[in-house]
Amino acid sequence: MNYHRFKLPEAYCPKCSRKVELLFSEETSALPQFYICFKCKTIGQFGLGELSANEFPAFSTERKKEIKEIIEEIPDKYKYKAQGSQLRLEEKSDTYTRRWLSLYEYEKAFGEELGFETIDFREDKRLCKWCNQPLEGRRRSFCSDRCSRNYGKATFFKRGISTLPYRIASRDRFYCRITGEDLAITNRFGVRIPASNQQLEIHHLIFVSNGGSDHETNLLTVSKQVHKEYHKGEINTVQAVEKIKAEQLLRHSDKMYTKK
Ligand SMILES: [Zn+2]
Ligand SMILES: [Zn+2]
Ligand SMILES: [Zn+2]
Repeated sequence: MNYHRFKLPEAYCPKCSRKVELLFSEETSALPQFYICFKCKTIGQFGLGELSANEFPAFSTERKKEIKEIIEEIPDKYKYKAQGSQLRLEEKSDTYTRRWLSLYEYEKAFGEELGFETIDFREDKRLCKWCNQPLEGRRRSFCSDRCSRNYGKATFFKRGISTLPYRIASRDRFYCRITGEDLAITNRFGVRIPASNQQLEIHHLIFVSNGGSDHETNLLTVSKQVHKEYHKGEINTVQAVEKIKAEQLLRHSDKMYTKK
């Protein structure tokens, strides 16, 4: 059974008040059914609170068994490593999304800022970033507040990707570094917008499980397809990625590994 983790801004653990994450099941309803708190290692159900393994009468026997397994498995799949409460997932399992460093943690870990914040895909800067219509007067980015809001929604509130990977994607201009596939969304005006089209993934050249860091020199924007091929060992993809890795290691090996 595959569960996917999501962060919800206003979900707090009822036990220790730390932010919790939601678990969505692939196979059953689309509703969030569980939360997990990585501080006190509690798994609970929204509306019901903490679940003890044998206390969910509403579920079928089969489902109870599944949930029991989830509860037993999840906390062990994670381990706390080094700086702060940074949570790391073993790369072996691709079922869960690991938590990325925040920009603050990034700066602390590497002693430098991560750039690539503002990205502007426009070739003609006299056109609106959202609707491609000519800008009037002193307007520089958007023809109207409405366009500005829509752009903000797409590139920030709904971008569905953490800040660090977003900046890596921005560095790579939302193209797959291996195939050149376009991984940005195109809006209803036919304008390319810096937000993931859901096919965008970030690969660690040195795996996290081998001590690879979140430093930008260790990260590569790739398409879902390429990422899958690489981890399956598809020869052409592996060669293309390994070539980039070798080049990066020549110059940046110190940053590409997490300091012990
Ligand atoms: Zn808690
Ligand atoms: Zn506009
Ligand atoms: Zn990868």
